[in-house]
Amino acid sequence: MDEFALINRFFTSLGRHSHGSQADTVIQGIGDDCAVLSVPSGQSLVVSIDTLVEGTHFVVGTDPAQLAWRLMGASVSDLAAMGAEPAWVTLALTLPAADESWLKPFSAALGEGLAYYGINLVGGDTTRGPLSLSAQVHGFVPHGAALLRSGARAGDLVCVSGTLGDSRGGLECILNADIAANDYLLDRFYRPTARVSLGQHMRRYATAAADISDGLLADLQHILTASCVGATVNPDLLPISTQLAAHFDNETAKRWALSGGEDFELCLTIAPECWQVLCEKAPSLAAQLTAIGVVDAEPGLRLQTAEGTVSAAAVGFNHFANETRNS
Ligand code: ADP
Ligand code: MG
Repeated sequence: MDEFALINRFFTSLGRHSHGSQADTVIQGIGDDCAVLSVPSGQSLVVSIDTLVEGTHFVVGTDPAQLAWRLMGASVSDLAAMGAEPAWVTLALTLPAADESWLKPFSAALGEGLAYYGINLVGGDTTRGPLSLSAQVHGFVPHGAALLRSGARAGDLVCVSGTLGDSRGGLECILNADIAANDYLLDRFYRPTARVSLGQHMRRYATAAADISDGLLADLQHILTASCVGATVNPDLLPISTQLAAHFDNETAKRWALSGGEDFELCLTIAPECWQVLCEKAPSLAAQLTAIGVVDAEPGLRLQTAEGTVSAAAVGFNHFANETRNS
């Protein structure tokens, strides 16, 4: 199968389906030298790219369907963190061979992911070499409404969506033969779900946001640095799933919730009065969030422990930062 036959068979067909409310912004999709796209008036274009490299971000022999989901989840999660609506994606693939038994499940899962996130495949590049996958995602946000990392203010609550540490727990099930596999935890690792709708709703309430890809402490620190503030987090308030709690001891679960990566939940800062409004006006959104700490004027990230408030770096949690990914 030559390159063009491969593209036609596994990718052009995916590009023909229109997804999401922004499907009509695609003037020319896959098949020309470039895609031709239009940004709706009043909207800013939000762009991000993510790459998965074999041997660095995933082990040799990883199921291609799982790779498609992780690639989509990780890249769309960045749009969610900006409060953006997904619109388009381009895909750069480097493949060691035109292996149909790899391409078929990859393409099928990619198609599911495109439909799930309402995002349109509009182009890409296919080359031969060591396995590597890049997805560049594009989304829209009304002018001036993007959720930036730089908006956190002293007094804001630090909130996170969903539960944390599950993806790291799933990885442990894979790495450690002594741990009984748990479908929920494995699914959280293999098929992370970007919080797209929550991100868009939070444009009205949050002062800053980041998605949790490298671990809560690392990603919260990005918000704090960009906003020139600090925060104190209470590890006892971290949302931990019943499945993670059932499989691992409390300390391990807490450590992974603080610093295990790839949960792709959102970390948000919300002014207390907005949190009140959110709880009253949108209880279903508030229910997806847990307040775990407070933003302070003093730079640095601190943890509330039984011994008092200590620097997150001092208790060694940074040692575990980025446990899941190598970059
Ligand atoms: P060019 O050589 O002009 O860059 P290509 O032959 O690489 O174009 O690609 C032909 C068309 O197929 C282009 O529209 C390109 O965007 C698309 N394409 C190539 N690879 C992929 C892929 N992996 N996924 C989606 N579209 C792709
Ligand atoms: Mg060309």
